[in-house]
Amino acid sequence: MSEVYTPIPLPWQRADWELIQRTRRSDRLPHALLLTGAEGLGKRHFADALAASLLCISPDSDGVSCGKCRGCDLLRAGTHPDLKYLRPDEPGKAIGIDTIREFTANESLTAQAGGYKIVIIEPADAMSRSAANSLLKTLEEPVDWTFIILITAQPGVLPATIRSRCRLLQMRLPARTVAEHWLSGEIGQKETSLLLALAAGAPLKARALADPGLLALRIKLLGEFAAIIEGKTDPVAVAANWTKSDPSLILGWYSSWLTDCLRLKTDPNCDDLINPDQREQLQSIGKSLEFKRLFGYIDDANQALLALSSQLNQQMMFESLLLPLSVRHLGNSG
Ligand SMILES: [Zn+2]
Repeated sequence: MSEVYTPIPLPWQRADWELIQRTRRSDRLPHALLLTGAEGLGKRHFADALAASLLCISPDSDGVSCGKCRGCDLLRAGTHPDLKYLRPDEPGKAIGIDTIREFTANESLTAQAGGYKIVIIEPADAMSRSAANSLLKTLEEPVDWTFIILITAQPGVLPATIRSRCRLLQMRLPARTVAEHWLSGEIGQKETSLLLALAAGAPLKARALADPGLLALRIKLLGEFAAIIEGKTDPVAVAANWTKSDPSLILGWYSSWLTDCLRLKTDPNCDDLINPDQREQLQSIGKSLEFKRLFGYIDDANQALLALSSQLNQQMMFESLLLPLSVRHLGNSG
């Protein structure tokens, strides 16, 4: 993953930004910041902007980096010696103890340029138990001018001992008008409202969904979901197909379809749908599912979403969700 020089926080991050800058001006910047909030709010963007601000020699009165000094030059080139990102070697894998140890050794915590030394751990919930223990020692005996940013959408996965030693910054969903304005600036006016609904209000997630290939995939997958319920296709084959894309995205769609089925079953005129463009199809699917089963499917989907990061066999995960939907399966199991 290449680093991008992003000095300015996103529009909905202004209040969080000002809060951090105030603590900095009064010399109360914490040693460690736990940056949480849903996926797609720009936590990483915020951390990058904050790193740029702290590594800049002459930031402006809002704390935004100047873009011209030696610190900013090094950042833009991606070669600043005092900024490190600790990530898994591959997405979905753990951050091991060696990765943490390499940067908690005292010599590496001392800034080379004479200012802050910044370590960004992303996603922090990917740290193995021993990696987290190793980090804990550093958090217990903080080194001056070292600033550690832990980024995670699932702070509950981190040991309580780690959480309690960090300042918590919980990022919130932006107001709809703010998000729509930003998104239309990014992708043009097209479908901002639908995309934000699909992304549960998270602007960066909405921008990622603007890919026409993804929107087409979503239509195809809903068709497969309906076909399983009608007994027209093999759930095992569909599960194999669903593992080919980003499982958290697919599982999120699946969960949102079930939720909308329930909402439409409860109120056919419901105007608060996650997938307003797929109303008719979801209404018809909902009609063929009993309430009790629908609740069970929603539970199963949410459980799968929570367990996703530790899920090794995605084919089996999708099978366990999709097999029970099938009419043929219901027939077999009585
Ligand atoms: Zn600068």
